Amino acid sequence: MILCPRCANTLEGPRLSCGSCDFTADNGKWFDFEPGESIDSFFDEHEFDHRFVAEPTHYWFRARRELLLDVLQKHVSPRSRVLEVGCGCGYTSKSFSAAGYDMWSADLSENALGYSVQNSLQQLCRVSITDLPFKEEFDAVVSFDVVEHIPDHRRCVEQLRDALVPGGTLIITVPAHPALWGSWDEIQRHVRRFRPSELQTLLEKAELEVVTVRQLFAALVLPALAAAAWDRVRGGHRGGEQRADEHRAMWTPALISQVAYQALAVERRLLNTPFPGVGTSLLAVARRP
Ligand SMILES: [Zn+2]
Repeated sequence: MILCPRCANTLEGPRLSCGSCDFTADNGKWFDFEPGESIDSFFDEHEFDHRFVAEPTHYWFRARRELLLDVLQKHVSPRSRVLEVGCGCGYTSKSFSAAGYDMWSADLSENALGYSVQNSLQQLCRVSITDLPFKEEFDAVVSFDVVEHIPDHRRCVEQLRDALVPGGTLIITVPAHPALWGSWDEIQRHVRRFRPSELQTLLEKAELEVVTVRQLFAALVLPALAAAAWDRVRGGHRGGEQRADEHRAMWTPALISQVAYQALAVERRLLNTPFPGVGTSLLAVARRP
């Protein structure tokens, strides 16, 4: 079911219209569910201007996108109906769609959704992860590096769960290890980084059956520890925009990017093993009973 944000009646038809009030979700660009909060509370949406350009080739986004498609294909059958919450510029949804999944893609940011339109995504929704209009609607729900932006993590996970059909699969990623906290987390407006046991508990408290919690991107642990230590030494001397530019400068050198991409991409071959057992991100797969 997809529910009317004004009266909670079921929405129907290709434009997702309400039968009991005058609400229609389709605004000609996407389905707009009139979320009650602003993206500004959780994220600087101008970041999407940089990401739209960087994501296709940037080593981290490229390696993550390919790895997550492997994870989806391992746990969710082809042509399943999949919701991505926090789709950003839409590159991940686009790759899932190209692999044959029936993608619905959602974000709170109109800027992000504008870029997703440019990426030719269909079935776009403007929603808040804290108040999703979907109940038992999707075979799989995915949300990559979103939950750490929202103070009420538990509510986010419960909303993602409620969007799943019984037996449906939830796949999420979050930043790992509080010890790796650095200026990048502050620039990205993260609320926290998670220990593996904390993510496991969060999912179990939402009455989900945890299939796996594993760490990703081992090659980035030492650079991230070094960056976190460097931030502690001199982080306070630089403004947020200067620090953001320093991070972005590391996105560009082609050789570094290619080496880093290869170092992360190797983990695609380790997905059926317990290795590497350490990393800068956590991946969780869980099922709604
Ligand atoms: Zn209504």
